[in-house]
Amino acid sequence: MTLPRIAIASLGGTISMTPDAAAGGVVPRLSAEQLAASVPGLSEVANISAESLFQLPSASLSFPNLLAALAWAERQVDAGAAGVVLTQGTDSIEESAFFLDLYWQREAPLIVTGAMRAPQSAGAEGPANLLSAVLAARSKDSRGRGVMVVMNDTIHAARWVRKRHTLTVQAFESPETGPLGVIVEGIAHYFHPAGTRPPALPPVSGDVRVALLETYMGDDGQIAELVRAAGYQGLVIGGFGAGHLSFGFAERMEALCADMPVIIATRTGAGPTTSATYGYIGSEVDLARRGAIMAGWLCPRKARALLWGMLAGGIGRCDIARAWKDWHQNLR
Ligand code: ASP
Repeated sequence: MTLPRIAIASLGGTISMTPDAAAGGVVPRLSAEQLAASVPGLSEVANISAESLFQLPSASLSFPNLLAALAWAERQVDAGAAGVVLTQGTDSIEESAFFLDLYWQREAPLIVTGAMRAPQSAGAEGPANLLSAVLAARSKDSRGRGVMVVMNDTIHAARWVRKRHTLTVQAFESPETGPLGVIVEGIAHYFHPAGTRPPALPPVSGDVRVALLETYMGDDGQIAELVRAAGYQGLVIGGFGAGHLSFGFAERMEALCADMPVIIATRTGAGPTTSATYGYIGSEVDLARRGAIMAGWLCPRKARALLWGMLAGGIGRCDIARAWKDWHQNLR
């Protein structure tokens, strides 16, 4: 039987980290080949090719790094890979996988995985995660589902997944929807058929700066003014509750929105922003009247990735509200 070809690339993260006495802790060092070689039985389920793209802690991955990984993944599929797996640090998977999903148009799955425990820790789960990721990548049922995150034998949509714990191996959840599926006895099982996907963003034509702030009691919006003065092209705010700010912050909103798109998400960790429930100063109705855009279901980090993609793709400041709404039409 011919095995499907699965291309693996490593970007760094705990899954690839080994102890370094001088650094005082583990640092990314293992290559993709070494990671693949550490997984028992991997060569029995797929014909693996492995390449190291970056060796970074995931806090230092950038959108340009991810665009390079995306182009690499597209080349692998165009050259016959049935699926692609990227290994990276778990700290930023919720935004990196979402960012990749904004652009990934191939039917073949692009799976992102990592590990909470470094390879030499007792119970290191990197090899199990990599095996599950490859099993998901080779499954025909994974086709047409875009970018997914596989951790702890659980498959999550890039659009919904969040890192909800600093250390446990069960750190990833999709609080709004639950996971897409699970890996059982070597097979990827999905609970629902593939849904519709938002259209791809326009290709990136330049770099932009988009800031992300979280509001807090007593926040009068002065830091947002500094963001504007520093020349950022966009701002996302993790607002209170369903997308709210203080009186003082709300009163700055017209001036902020005159210079850049401002997206209001929620800092709560789950649930959407509202659009027509509260009417007080600083509520969603008030902020939208002043020019802000409500994030909807996207968490602040994913909202920032989407706003960056729209602006970097050349969508003008005044067209962001329309583009935001259109993109959300297909969000499932
Ligand atoms: N700090 C690590 C990183 O994101 C954590 C991990 O990989 O789990 O690179």
